[in-house]
Amino acid sequence: MEQVKNPISDQVKEVVEAVMEALRVPRPDESSSPSAASSSFEAEALRSEILRVGRKLWERQYVDGNGGNISCRMGAKYVLCTPTMMSKRDMEPADICLSDLDGNIVAGDRARTSELLLHLEIYRANPRARAVVHCHPPYATAFSLTGTTPPIGLISEYEIFIGPAALANYETPGTQVFAETVLPFVQDHNTILLANHGVVCWSDTVTHAEWLVEILESYCKTCVIAKQLGKPLTFIPAPKIQEILALKRKLGFPDARIEPLPAEAPGRTSANPELESLVRQVISRLEEQP
Ligand SMILES: [Zn+2]
Repeated sequence: MEQVKNPISDQVKEVVEAVMEALRVPRPDESSSPSAASSSFEAEALRSEILRVGRKLWERQYVDGNGGNISCRMGAKYVLCTPTMMSKRDMEPADICLSDLDGNIVAGDRARTSELLLHLEIYRANPRARAVVHCHPPYATAFSLTGTTPPIGLISEYEIFIGPAALANYETPGTQVFAETVLPFVQDHNTILLANHGVVCWSDTVTHAEWLVEILESYCKTCVIAKQLGKPLTFIPAPKIQEILALKRKLGFPDARIEPLPAEAPGRTSANPELESLVRQVISRLEEQP
């Protein structure tokens, strides 16, 4: 049904958008010193997000011991990352390291994760990657032990958010050679199984990268259970998969079955993400009004 324009809604929308624009602040620029970047509002918000996601990974048993690591880009030249030798359940804000894009710690007292090299290769190769989560969820890691990736075409949510996962070759963790194993896949895949090791996912935020891990792990578990039922699997019909791929293009999600997405330059960020989300909800309500 065609929507009729409501001039009052349009005016309110303009005002709301102007308020939202006023709330936006530039990301720390090239001239930001490490200490200014480290104490910025954005760094504080990102550290909290990393801590929240770290606890989720531990609670869902996707990491054990000191395993797994999380990072996110901040502006054009910094990365916040988890420290080495620390459980993802026990981290405090001061434990999060600030690194440059070469892996040198520029703020923070702890040593960074050795897997930052892997994260940095992803950031360098794909500017759309703003956050990376690496962990060892059992079902997805089990697939990596068999040298296979989970089948595709079975569950729509998995197709939309992930689609075909990649499998990177085995190399010794923590080395530069290991970090580079993901390079052939990082443009077309947001989810990569690491042979005989675990998984790595990238997205626009740490929260969204962790969602990918959850979606992958649940999917791998469901595939294993479905196999055990001993009946042939039924797949989503090909035309319906095409509808999903059209949606992915619209959403800007990568998929090896569609053309590569354009690179995105680091943009501006919200000074208040919760308020911005609220404002977006108001705008979409206004747009829904007859
Ligand atoms: Zn690992």
